[in-house]
Amino acid sequence: MLVEEKDALKERLKEIFGYSQFRGNQERIIRNLLDGRNTFVIMPTGAGKSLCYQLPAMINDGLAIVISPLIALMKNQVDQMNAYGVNARFLNSTLSKGEITRLKKECMNGNVKLLYVAPESLNKEETIEFLKKVNVSFVAIDEAHCISEWGHDFRPEYRRIKSMIHNLGEMPVIALTATATPKVQIDIQKNLQMEEADVFMSSFNRKNLYYEVRPKKETKKQLIKFLKDNKGKSGIIYCLSRKKVEEIAQLLNVNGFKAAPYHAGLDPDVRMKNQDDFLNEEVDIICATIAFGMGIDKPDVRFVVHYDVPKSLEGYYQETGRSGRDGLEGHCLMFYSHNDLSKLEKFNKDKPVQERENARILLQEMEYYAESPVCRRRQLLHYFGEEFKEENCGMCDNCVHPRERFDGTDYVQLVLRSVKQTNERFGLNHLVHVIRGVEDEYVKSYGHFDLEVYGKGGDEDADFWKSVIRQTLIFQYLEKDIDNIGALKITQKGEEFLKNPYAIELARDHDFTTEIEEEEESAEKAPVSAKSYDVKLFELLKNLRKKIAKEKNLPPYVIFQDPSLEEMATTYPTTKEEMAQVNGVGMGKVNKFGKEFLEVIEKYVEDNDIETASEVVVKSSVNKSKTKISIIQQIDRKIDLEEIAESTRLTFEDLLTEIENICYSGTKLNLNYYIDQVLDAHKQDDIHDYFMSAETDSLEHALNDDSIADYSEEEIRLMRIKFMSEYAN
Ligand code: ADP
Ligand code: ZN
Repeated sequence: MLVEEKDALKERLKEIFGYSQFRGNQERIIRNLLDGRNTFVIMPTGAGKSLCYQLPAMINDGLAIVISPLIALMKNQVDQMNAYGVNARFLNSTLSKGEITRLKKECMNGNVKLLYVAPESLNKEETIEFLKKVNVSFVAIDEAHCISEWGHDFRPEYRRIKSMIHNLGEMPVIALTATATPKVQIDIQKNLQMEEADVFMSSFNRKNLYYEVRPKKETKKQLIKFLKDNKGKSGIIYCLSRKKVEEIAQLLNVNGFKAAPYHAGLDPDVRMKNQDDFLNEEVDIICATIAFGMGIDKPDVRFVVHYDVPKSLEGYYQETGRSGRDGLEGHCLMFYSHNDLSKLEKFNKDKPVQERENARILLQEMEYYAESPVCRRRQLLHYFGEEFKEENCGMCDNCVHPRERFDGTDYVQLVLRSVKQTNERFGLNHLVHVIRGVEDEYVKSYGHFDLEVYGKGGDEDADFWKSVIRQTLIFQYLEKDIDNIGALKITQKGEEFLKNPYAIELARDHDFTTEIEEEEESAEKAPVSAKSYDVKLFELLKNLRKKIAKEKNLPPYVIFQDPSLEEMATTYPTTKEEMAQVNGVGMGKVNKFGKEFLEVIEKYVEDNDIETASEVVVKSSVNKSKTKISIIQQIDRKIDLEEIAESTRLTFEDLLTEIENICYSGTKLNLNYYIDQVLDAHKQDDIHDYFMSAETDSLEHALNDDSIADYSEEEIRLMRIKFMSEYAN
């Protein structure tokens, strides 16, 4: 019997929609609804939510009502259903009186199977009166997250749905959404009074999407570079304002890309045309405000760029979700800056207090996400209440270019102890104050300065502790208290860790604050996608480097390091000046080795019609910090390194690091006066010989090499600087 039923359902699927299989939870959901049970569906965009109410509507007697907030999409969906031969209609404010009268008649005759209704139409007395006379089979609430004011797309009229449909008598309700944090889920169920509903949650993991966040710096140049690497592919670029949309669309057209703008300020005809052009691949790229994309089902969108920071992670997830729907490549790139956050915050200024506060919390989550060193996928899934079990997803910038780790065991312990001692009733900021010993009003009024943990973490700054707490949350030692907003509680895992601590590795957040001042450093730190340079040119340059290295009898890394070649394969320098701007390359190096590289790049650029660095914004010259300049000057005056360390207030080790940075960014330094004092000639030769034959200049390799096992790290580093200065600069 059961088997037969199963087949019957599949037969209807095939008969009506032409599909031979259900996807994911579809079948279970549909059966649940057909059994007359309230059903709550959480399924990522593109997974096939609509079918979950469309098919039952066809099977049940009577009329199914679909409440949907997107009037613009109703027509599309109805057209689609009609094309399947299903009698579907919509009821919203775009219909004339006559049309409404006809529609009602048809519904009453029992011919219509699916009726899409806008929530504001449902709020009308006459609509309810009419629906009371119709045999309604069930109610579907699409985009159900609009019910919750904790979500990103709150619509007040959605909160009245329950009381409206209550008038229609007993019938099952199916609520569907593609985004709902655990808090929003609870809110939706409470509001619809369907706490007992069966919840069907599909995994939100979109395995084929690559997530990346880059500093919003020289953004146009970065964008053009990115688009060049993705030439001919279909993609969406989201901007915050209409003006920006226009500007970027124009920029792209000028640069030879086929792009069109899309935003609510455009003439409807133009807007429709641009959308169609994108769908029909007349244009490759659509630059759009977030008005674009709802209900767009283009399976082969290969990238989604957020030129500006989105307002919430929910929105971000939805928008990025429009890439790679066919399961193939989907690159999600976000440009991030604090400045954008402040702008967004300003937009909220005129909102009612509660709304403003909610918007602020959403923005803060966005900030945490962008700056966090933790796997992007893990963070996104955690946000939607799902645990990502793998160590490294291999498909996000933080996994592909992991940040340096440190032992976080003691830090996590201190955080958990603080949560415990404050009775699990406080949020992140207060905990940071307690840990750092900041005696503010709250600390005083709760007497928290008496706690054992108070001030124990005073050596680290507030950002550090915030980051530790967030990582503790994402790795589920702590969790948010759903009933008490903002408060953090210890999980089972956290309790176990407190009882039997084990080693935990943490990483530091990305630092997006120094992006302007510290040109060189932020360039190093910027998470660079594995494919962000011209792979073909890079290979050519690498081959050339190999050839020159052989000729000159030097290890290749001495000539140019890989990151420098990658940068050349990104900015295409064709003059000496431009080449000297590349990180790790100074004029000295350009004069020494640059000529042939410039020739190769020039030819490549010509052969491939590429715009060069000089045509896109040229990087500003490297801004050497005061300390660096002081170090260089003192070395010129042959001052002992110990003394330089003292005058610049650096430890000796940090001084060496600074000197290495100087040397690796192409400045020639002569440390012989110092090295000759601390290492005799024969020792110098040993280390020199090692570097001459080594494959890489890696310190770690050098430290582990038997041939120089007797030398200290300091000696090896000094000699490496000497070596690089002599041969490479
Ligand atoms: P959502 O509303 O969840 O974003 P849709 O309902 O628009 O997703 O469905 C996305 C796409 O998947 C549509 O093109 C739809 O026709 C298709 N689809 C849905 N269910 C199936 C299925 N069982 N087999 C094949 N394709 C399906
Ligand atoms: Zn990852």
